[in-house]
Amino acid sequence: LMQLSIPLNFIGFIYREIRQGLTDIEQMFDLLDVPQEITDRPGATALEVSEGAIRFDDVHFAYDASRPILKGISFEVPPGKTVAIVGPSGAGKSTISRLLFRFYDIQQGTITIDGQDVRDVTQESLRGAIGMVPQDTVLFNDTIAYNIRYGRTEAGDEEVEKAADLAQIGAFIAQLPEGYRTMVGERGLKLSGGEKQRVAIARTILKAPPILILDEATSALDTHTEQEIQSALDLVSRGRTTLVIAHRLSTVIAADEIIVLKDGVIAERGTHRALLDCRGLYAEMWDRQREATEAEEKLRRARETD
Ligand code: ATP
Repeated sequence: LMQLSIPLNFIGFIYREIRQGLTDIEQMFDLLDVPQEITDRPGATALEVSEGAIRFDDVHFAYDASRPILKGISFEVPPGKTVAIVGPSGAGKSTISRLLFRFYDIQQGTITIDGQDVRDVTQESLRGAIGMVPQDTVLFNDTIAYNIRYGRTEAGDEEVEKAADLAQIGAFIAQLPEGYRTMVGERGLKLSGGEKQRVAIARTILKAPPILILDEATSALDTHTEQEIQSALDLVSRGRTTLVIAHRLSTVIAADEIIVLKDGVIAERGTHRALLDCRGLYAEMWDRQREATEAEEKLRRARETD
């Protein structure tokens, strides 16, 4: 058996190495998921963020010409305010965040930040001004400190720890035997979805961008974790112009405006209260989600009593 287990271990090792290689390549593509045709125009200047106002004006966009995704979208995120985009799966919510980063160019209309068209500024300055807390955070195979410091590589240890505390992950890190030196990622300690998201929040706190995109996780988190993450997100978005891409509705209640996207157009817009009162698509989504949450809770309680 010993003779067999050594080669098996070895095969396991090779398998993990290959898988890791693939993950690294995938991560690289994710990070560099920018079509090659997007380049700085000659004479592009650095984006100058004064207040951080975002404006989409009659934006039309299709990944391929045969299927329009956005058909004339106009909205504003005033400086320091929070606007949430909701809508059925595939409606184009995440597309809006990709367009703000100018990962693609739009076919018609304009997207501006403080009056500057995203096509006229350097991509480096544009991406430097926007912080993103993604749905699924990619962790590097390195220490947890490295992963947080990625937000601003010159940050000192104290700043890293402060950011972790603000993101509500400091206590968790402190109780790990190796603390901030704990290796994470595929080859190290595996963090849960909620823990990874808090690492992303800590990164963003360090980066301190004037504009923030929160791409809310699709997967349901337990209520306690969700509350912790919510308070960390509230903290990071305070005073920053924030666009929330909401796949669930729990984070949008406090948004200054909610935009309901459907079939490429804005179907409804308003505050949570106003949208509930008008008993339209948003109210329907809200009811359905509440029913689903209640069913989940019931199932969880039934399992606990088993
Ligand atoms: P979800 O809530 O499910 O994440 P979403 O509203 O964020 O959905 P998007 O990711 O913006 O939806 O996608 C909008 C549409 O564009 C989808 O139909 C999707 O299949 C399509 N799409 C997304 N990315 C690409 C791409 N790179 N190339 C072609 N089509 C794409």
